[in-house]
Amino acid sequence: MTAPVPKLLSIAGSDPSGGAGVQADLKTFSAFGCYGMAAITALTVQNTQGVTASYPVAPEIVAAQIEAVLSDISPDAIKIGMLATPDIAHAVAKALARYGARNVVLDPVLVPTQGVSLASAGLEAALAGLLPLARLVTPNLHEASALTQTPLAKNPEEMAAQGRLLCTAGAHAVLVKGGDLEGEPVDVLFERGERRTFRGRRVPSRNTHGTGCALSSAIACELAKGAPLIDAIATAKAWLEGALEAADRLKLSEGRGPPHHF
Ligand code: PLP
Repeated sequence: MTAPVPKLLSIAGSDPSGGAGVQADLKTFSAFGCYGMAAITALTVQNTQGVTASYPVAPEIVAAQIEAVLSDISPDAIKIGMLATPDIAHAVAKALARYGARNVVLDPVLVPTQGVSLASAGLEAALAGLLPLARLVTPNLHEASALTQTPLAKNPEEMAAQGRLLCTAGAHAVLVKGGDLEGEPVDVLFERGERRTFRGRRVPSRNTHGTGCALSSAIACELAKGAPLIDAIATAKAWLEGALEAADRLKLSEGRGPPHHF
């Protein structure tokens, strides 16, 4: 008997240029052979040059989208990206707690690499309510610093310390992504008091738009297939390196494009 196709839900913002947000998530789900669904939290206005505006969806409409899906379909994993406002974060936490969501990967999106903020004041604090619901939280260095209210980490020790703080605050596992540090990229996973380092390969490319969205979605796909967390992260990272290598084939514009998800 063939195994059923894994089903994934993305709860995230829209990027009309297709590089980040729900568009990146759905492409990643397809690249991993999974069925994708999406509840949209915000409409952003952006292209490869950056984000110029963001319009959050009313929290009750975000909750209604999630409830429509979860009352009918049981996703094997859920990826959470941009939540835009504290009220949307609260609505998402309530809806997920009600339906007992599993394999939740939380990418705590706060500020884009270029352009206006993707989060209103107080979102960091509201994200705390979602930490216990997530199997994994995937902050970059800036997000880890904002969530822990500590200075930007400069090395794997400081990244691990921030992971530990977020676990103390209720997270089960935290992957602090160190791609913004100099040299070969190092990500640090902190889980159950232990730290593990993932050393990657730097793929020189300006086309890194939406890499955080794609990575968290790829990890969610592997978890949906039943992979252990460490294997899921390793597979997702290797896939993203390939997608970054293929990015130049897209030739979208002179701006900062996304990795190519095949
Ligand atoms: N737009 C949306 C909707 C996002 O979810 C994100 C990041 O998660 C971004 C933009 C930012 O993308 P980047 O900083 O990778 O360009």
